[in-house]
Amino acid sequence: MLEELREGVRRVCARYPGRYWRELDARRAYPEEFVRELTEAGYLAALIPEEYGGAGLGVTEASVILEEIHRSGGNAAACHAQMYTMSVLLRHGSEAQRRTYLPEIAAGRLRLQAFGVTEPTTGSDTTHLRTTAIRKGDRYIVNGQKVFISRAEHSDLMVLLVRTTPLQEVVKKTEGLTVLLVDLREAVGRGLTIRPIRTMMNHATTELFFEDLEVPVENRIGEEGQGFRYILDGMNSERILIAAECIGDGRWFIDRAVAYAKERVVFGRPIGKNQGIQFPIAQAYVRVEAADRMRFDAAARFDAGEACGPQANMAKLLAAEASWEAANVALQTHGGFGFTEEFDIERKFRETRLYQVAPVSTNLVLAYIAEHVLGLPKSY
Ligand SMILES: Cc1cc2nc3c(=O)[nH]c(=O)nc-3n(C[C@H](O)[C@H](O)[C@H](O)COP(=O)(O)OP(=O)(O)OC[C@H]3O[C@@H](n4cnc5c(N)ncnc54)[C@H](O)[C@@H]3O)c2cc1C
Repeated sequence: MLEELREGVRRVCARYPGRYWRELDARRAYPEEFVRELTEAGYLAALIPEEYGGAGLGVTEASVILEEIHRSGGNAAACHAQMYTMSVLLRHGSEAQRRTYLPEIAAGRLRLQAFGVTEPTTGSDTTHLRTTAIRKGDRYIVNGQKVFISRAEHSDLMVLLVRTTPLQEVVKKTEGLTVLLVDLREAVGRGLTIRPIRTMMNHATTELFFEDLEVPVENRIGEEGQGFRYILDGMNSERILIAAECIGDGRWFIDRAVAYAKERVVFGRPIGKNQGIQFPIAQAYVRVEAADRMRFDAAARFDAGEACGPQANMAKLLAAEASWEAANVALQTHGGFGFTEEFDIERKFRETRLYQVAPVSTNLVLAYIAEHVLGLPKSY
């Protein structure tokens, strides 16, 4: 089953070679055609249950889809949020919300590609976020600012985390946060301004400014004040899916490094004959494979409805480190040619570096393991 899925994704990706991604990267443009084809093939609706028109698959299968995109040399960052925001809507949305949105998303008529959490002043300290939503009758009035909200210009809907009860009025700081489903088609120009941020890779990220944006109360997901818990659920699937992307990247880098090490002849022999070249590639391979095992462990737990916070975090950390190591090794193996655009190494090198920082930085993963798994005192 997984092998069939891999082959199907590979067939789509084969139509989008390095030159396609390179050209988009130069223009910092969105891969419209690729995302459309992936949607039409049903891959982005992997997690939507069959009764709503999706494929009814688990995070295990979804992670394999994203891994294959990265393994092909592409980048799923343009569309992965449709998968990792899905568990918030699926697990915590009302039946009416599921019936309204899921069939439209599955059919590709609606895009749910934006996830609005990070803020400029509070960063990783999510519970201190300052964007507020004050209830007035049947609407919430949203004010504040978000930063690094990716794909907001290419999405119809956004899962948004806001504070509905001031921090000083709640017992636990994780309380009083609420999730709203914002219809970006109605919001832009009516209280929401989106400004693109240019980054070192092609990522379609933006900053958002909310000024008295009205969101209907019926667009609230779950209960008011419980949003942090819902987002955490989504974050575990996000960490697993990002781990899979890193594993795809790692395998791509290793494939490329091995191929080049075999064919490049210097001093009368292939460079891959030197242990100084082959050992770092072998080491990176070992790390990618180890991370892969942790990814499947975390995904199986998630799909079984079990707690998987430690495994999802460890998978993300191991995979992000392994892909970065593989990127560095691939660059070194290619010598000067690694820096040229036509080999795609430099592009993927820039792209995979992100995952040490987003969606959660390595330090914050370590702080989580130290506190929640090892029982060490909270460090912040
Ligand atoms: C290209 C891109 C796309 C993104 N897309 C999205 C998106 O779609 N939606 C969204 O909500 N967010 C998004 N993000 C935001 C991303 O999740 C954050 O950048 C990330 O969580 C880190 O937050 P920060 O940048 O504010 O860093 P900060 O929180 O300011 O941290 C800066 C550094 O300090 C370290 N640090 C902070 N506190 C501690 C501590 N207590 N102990 C040890 N070290 C610490 C961090 O590890 C980090 O290395 C994106 C970011 C980027 C760059």
